[in-house]
Amino acid sequence: WWGSVPMGAPDTILGIRDKYNKDSSPKKVNLGVGAYRDDDGKPFVLPSVRKAEELIYQKCMNHEYAPIAGEVAFREACAKLAFGDCSQPIVDKTNATVQTLSGTGALRLGLDFINRYWQKKREVWLPNPTWFNHPQICDMLCLPYKKYRYYDPKTKGFDVNGACEDLCRAPEGSVILLHACAHNPTGVDPKKEEWECLSKIIKEKKLFPFFDMAYQGFATGSVDRDAQAVRIFVKDGHQVMLAQSFAKNMGLYGERVGALTVLCGDKCTADKVMSQLKVSIRTIYSNPAINGSRIVKEILTNAELKQQWLVDVKAMADRIITMRKMLREAIEGAGSKHKWNHITDQIGMFCYTGLTPAQVDRITKECHIYLTKDGRISVAGITTKNVAYVAESIHKVTSS
Ligand code: PMP
Repeated sequence: WWGSVPMGAPDTILGIRDKYNKDSSPKKVNLGVGAYRDDDGKPFVLPSVRKAEELIYQKCMNHEYAPIAGEVAFREACAKLAFGDCSQPIVDKTNATVQTLSGTGALRLGLDFINRYWQKKREVWLPNPTWFNHPQICDMLCLPYKKYRYYDPKTKGFDVNGACEDLCRAPEGSVILLHACAHNPTGVDPKKEEWECLSKIIKEKKLFPFFDMAYQGFATGSVDRDAQAVRIFVKDGHQVMLAQSFAKNMGLYGERVGALTVLCGDKCTADKVMSQLKVSIRTIYSNPAINGSRIVKEILTNAELKQQWLVDVKAMADRIITMRKMLREAIEGAGSKHKWNHITDQIGMFCYTGLTPAQVDRITKECHIYLTKDGRISVAGITTKNVAYVAESIHKVTSS
């Protein structure tokens, strides 16, 4: 029956992990992983998460089904975290928020909703480059997509003019996918004024903003600061769609917990949208998993625990910021003639180093350092113990 099925493309990140695992060199470093590591290179369980797990355990809860859209308290807490406690959508209750299978599930559910309920077939505009799964999800849903200019290889920063020009020529009603903070893979985020400018263009051209917020708190260490872009758009009157993930900012990768919000003009529309999201969920996985959402709800609704979590997220963000500084200083200290300011200008888990595919090949073969072909490194894979070696290796492959 299935003999004619073609082989699917292997997942690049998992491929890197396999090669890294097979390498027997004591010097090997994996800078491909998209997950936070502590200064010993180990997975990290946040103290606030441990505490929440203890509290949940003590409650001796049952394992009944969750409501189709997830628990009300969880959904409200997600929306408040993203938009702010006293924001207009929260006050007016015009948000349709459902629990999802982490950020990926939220993106898929949101794009599926767009595909089904938008009167005309729409184009999705993705930043160039973007997370590899964005175009892949569009393909699965047969949603046509285009790319708007985002990263400028010359400055290794945001191409504001290119992005604005491209968005100005997107057809009315196009879906504009925006990384709310800590852009993956480049680590390049627009500045506040640039977000304001994008918001204005998107409004004037009647485009539809869909935010992917997979790293709230992870970029700057402040959950409010990292939600700045989303909040600017909401203040400007956009009815945004938002995909949220708790994989990174709570370290709940394998729990697969996230949320999708569709902002609506009024409560009645929000109720209708909510009802259709529930129908979708019912046909895909019936109802969401309970463990991860219990942890998130416990943290976000318990003032003391939330405070602890804010400290935990900041500690992760700060370690990454410190590693960026140390890496830049060490490469410059090694006598590199190139500019490395982009390492500290960029933000979040990833850094677009500017290494060419040939240099990536060399650093992997000669130095046992693993990263994606596009030169992206996960700063979370750098530690005080390996930073000098990584810097020396980057200098080696970029200087000869
Ligand atoms: N969007 C972006 C930009 C991401 O980097 C990620 C995580 N790699 C996600 C969404 C979703 O991740 P998850 O499904 O694990 O929440």
